[in-house]
Amino acid sequence: MNCNKKIKYPNKNAALIAVSRINSDPSNKDGKQTAYECRHHECWHTGHPKDYSDNPFVRINQIFEQKKPKKKKGKYKTN
Ligand SMILES: [Zn+2]
Repeated sequence: MNCNKKIKYPNKNAALIAVSRINSDPSNKDGKQTAYECRHHECWHTGHPKDYSDNPFVRINQIFEQKKPKKKKGKYKTN
């Protein structure tokens, strides 16, 4: 999914409010959505967790957060 077409929220709070609205809508049959930061647009989007796999910027961000390097020097691997 191309996040260019997604709604851009200026901050996490705005995105979370939108997510709670979406997820509380009984007509929403597509499953729970979540808010995530988009490094490409420097904003926040809402979407399903699986959408992350199509957004390399978010994916890289997640990888960084998972690894949490301690005192390693040198360059990050981006793949
Ligand atoms: Zn984006």
